Amino acid sequence: MNEYGFNTLAVHAGAQPDPATGARATPIYQTTAFAFENADHAAALFNLQVFGNIYSRIMNPTNAVLEERIAALENGRTGLAVASGHAAQLIAFHTLMSPGDNIVAARQLYGGSINQLTQGFAKFDWHTNFADARDPDTFKKAINERTKAVFIESIANPGGIITDIEAIAAIAHEAGVPLIVDNTLASPYLIQPIEWGADIVLHSGTKFLGGHGNSMCGLIVDSGKFDWGSGKYPTLSEPCPSYHGMRLWETFGDLAYATACRVLGLRDLGPALSPFNAFMIINGIETLPLRMQKHCDNALQIARWLKQNPNVAWVNYAGLEDNDCYNLHRTYCPKGAGAVFTFGVKGGFEAGVNIVNNVRIISHLANIGDTRSLIIHPASTTHRQLNDEDRAKAGAGNDVIRLSIGIENAEDIIKDLDQAMNAT
Ligand SMILES: *Cc1c(COP(=O)(O)O)cnc(C)c1O
Repeated sequence: MNEYGFNTLAVHAGAQPDPATGARATPIYQTTAFAFENADHAAALFNLQVFGNIYSRIMNPTNAVLEERIAALENGRTGLAVASGHAAQLIAFHTLMSPGDNIVAARQLYGGSINQLTQGFAKFDWHTNFADARDPDTFKKAINERTKAVFIESIANPGGIITDIEAIAAIAHEAGVPLIVDNTLASPYLIQPIEWGADIVLHSGTKFLGGHGNSMCGLIVDSGKFDWGSGKYPTLSEPCPSYHGMRLWETFGDLAYATACRVLGLRDLGPALSPFNAFMIINGIETLPLRMQKHCDNALQIARWLKQNPNVAWVNYAGLEDNDCYNLHRTYCPKGAGAVFTFGVKGGFEAGVNIVNNVRIISHLANIGDTRSLIIHPASTTHRQLNDEDRAKAGAGNDVIRLSIGIENAEDIIKDLDQAMNAT
């Protein structure tokens, strides 16, 4: 399939007319379980001797189309679809981590991921050492003998930082650990992290892949390239009590990691994706290349307009020539610097509140990656519990506005921002 171009894969990868009915769109296999052919077939399925559908917590034919499609778009070996982006992170790390282990992660991550790493994961005795996404050497310093993975975002939400994936991959590999990249903000249309050395790619499919702000989803893509045989990853290299002492790495090779995520992580932790949501995300992905280009073109036009606006103190968008990440943008994602960025409004907290209260077609809410343009003032919402100093440190100072630019006419978004800034 991979001889085809990206747009073709976005429409076709993993899907074919339904063998039972000829249905051309991927059917929603809305079933919990699948009938066995006989007792021997059932036994072979449970022993992992043959691969097939048993129960939709572990595997479902609609979800399988989505898994194959995202693996094709990311140029990975195989994929796994789960209920949300955070579920993907939970399962991706669960396969690698034991109590007392740590993750070395960029400090510049989606706020929900910081909570998950520092609070949710701490309950499993998994810890995180933070590094600076803008300085690969800080990752080297943060890695120790209990580090099991390095975790970054390709484009970091919301600072619009473009991460030097290749440099950080080299540091992770030197330490014998995989690089895991959250590629949500870029999508494989802008960046394919595996091409730059990433071992595992994660997505909140909720955002640009689904793209219409209507369905939660998470995805894990395994490059199939990492060697799990060092003894650091007992789930993969040691005999597995769930499957008669089978060693997954020895048995499944370049499918071992994704298999463990499915038949141990998803089986035991349980955040399965509904086939209906898989259907919605599959449909979203078909137009990903068209939407993503429009998102980026609009974002650049709007960032340029903001830049010369007298009400605006600063604009942080990697697509602008004077941005610190401009050169990384030209290297990693020349088609566009994404659709999510921040700017500072003159007049601080009050001026920020004024804008979100007065926008008309831009929606005031906590999401990104919708066809619709979205706006949020972090200081009065997601970061309101912090004091002024801590807000500023988190990149959510009183004057900060975050935009996720949609696919409307850019002139209409500009007009809306303009009237909201000038409303009294
Ligand atoms: C939204 C988001 C997540 C979490 O995904 P959910 O689908 O909301 O669980 C993780 N990473 C990034 C970059 C996100 O934007």
